Amino acid sequence: MLTDAQIHANVSALRERIDAACREAGRDAADVDLLLATKQVPADRIRVAIDAGARLIGENKVQELADKDAQLAGTECERHFIGHLQSNKVNHVLRYVTCIQSVDSIGLADRLQRRLDALDQNVDVLVQVNTSGEASKYGVPPEEASALVKEIAKRDRLRVRGLMTIGLPAATPDLIRPSYQSLRVVRDRIRDETGGSVSAGVLSMGMSRDLDIAIAEGSTMVRVGTAVFGARSY
Ligand SMILES: *Cc1c(COP(=O)(O)O)cnc(C)c1O
Repeated sequence: MLTDAQIHANVSALRERIDAACREAGRDAADVDLLLATKQVPADRIRVAIDAGARLIGENKVQELADKDAQLAGTECERHFIGHLQSNKVNHVLRYVTCIQSVDSIGLADRLQRRLDALDQNVDVLVQVNTSGEASKYGVPPEEASALVKEIAKRDRLRVRGLMTIGLPAATPDLIRPSYQSLRVVRDRIRDETGGSVSAGVLSMGMSRDLDIAIAEGSTMVRVGTAVFGARSY
């Protein structure tokens, strides 16, 4: 478990790393949001990161959102859902998050739409794209992403903001980069095909080990866990 001081130092170092990657890429650091991936991180450690300036956190289990909810009450921090969303958790997740980054089917979009209608509520969504081609990964294949985004955009309770992908694990830069490039290509294709009427500008990509590459390839949101909270113990 990391101390308060370590977490503060890690958040500062991470911001410097993001700034450096943006400078290197000729981009404005204000165009890259930082989301802290807080799976398995206790709520009191998350609160320290919020004190250090974090404004966006992501969980990938609905149960963890529920467990940490009370302890995060009163903090100025938005939460996103970044894991695979099972259909029986749809009702529950909407209580906690402003964005679901892992929508990858019409079936899931329809379940969300129905529930949101009942609640008279909207939610932001990102469409998860499987850019690495690994069979184990969720997400729609890149060649089907544009059609799915356009279909989801017809559901009035879902505000499509962009795309999310998870890079190849433990890969070299040469293997990681094409995944991130392909997410950007999908975004550009959607913009061209819809004449900009569907705005899918957000590119949620890049984690502790590879966020520099993701920023070079156009990431607008990096999702970082280990670099701030230390290694997770599975
Ligand atoms: C855990 C997780 C991250 C962060 O990974 P780190 O390597 O710890 O930075 C990012 N995205 C998703 C979807 C995750 O589950």
